[in-house]
Amino acid sequence: MNDENTSIHEFDVNLICEYFLGMERQGPGSPKATRKALSFIDSLNEKSRIADLGCGTGSQTMVIAQNALGLIEGIDLFPAFIDKFNANAAKLNLCNRVKGVIGSMDSLSYGNEELDVIWSEGAIYNIGFERGLNEWRKFLKTGGYVAVTEASWFTGSRPHEIETFWTDAYPEIDTIPNKTAQMQKAGYIPVATFILPENCWTDNFYIPQIPAQEAFLKKYPGNETAESLITNMRREAEMYSRYKQYYGYVFYIGRKI
Ligand code: SAH
Repeated sequence: MNDENTSIHEFDVNLICEYFLGMERQGPGSPKATRKALSFIDSLNEKSRIADLGCGTGSQTMVIAQNALGLIEGIDLFPAFIDKFNANAAKLNLCNRVKGVIGSMDSLSYGNEELDVIWSEGAIYNIGFERGLNEWRKFLKTGGYVAVTEASWFTGSRPHEIETFWTDAYPEIDTIPNKTAQMQKAGYIPVATFILPENCWTDNFYIPQIPAQEAFLKKYPGNETAESLITNMRREAEMYSRYKQYYGYVFYIGRKI
């Protein structure tokens, strides 16, 4: 890649980060769903170590901190998200237990069996569900938990349009029983699965984006990255409203054996 491309690429990434920085969440979810997933995880204490991978600005991380004991590290690729994450932790007086660190979920520097919980909402798709579960397992203590949300099919078959949309975006999307079997195969006992309610996508993700999209297009008129980002986000929201009975995010909670 030459310098010119690098700088264009960086500009694109900065623009995309700016768009999502303005949102409370960078993916579908809710405090209630985070608390529900946490309710399947027992045995945490003040010394427990929790890693939240692909934490974004930390909306769910702060909910974990407010509802569970332990020390929590949020990891995200993008420095601007981590800055906001740490500012959010400071605002909530959680700095003694919650820390955001720049890093990648595919090159984590934890030692073997160091962690009690690995959390990841709307982010494991970046390296893939199976790869993430397999690679992260070594960092967990035996009996430790993994809790992730992952795009999943609700039915055995679905209309062609949504099938194509998802297999282009994330070919690893699969049915809940298949994902659960993958979790088992990766060395975890599947403890619970539940579907994220619709409001996690609408009220907490797509609806807040509507005014932000207008503002963004006004701020960057004629900018191709901005325009294609917004076109994609609008199409994604439209697909969701049309086909939400066929897919959604599912929380998968597993225990390392
Ligand atoms: N968990 C947050 C953010 C989900 S969006 C929420 O639910 O609101 C996905 C996040 O994964 C983004 O913040 C993105 O920056 C991050 N990400 C993408 N690739 C990553 C990688 N390789 N390592 C760590 N984080 C990554």
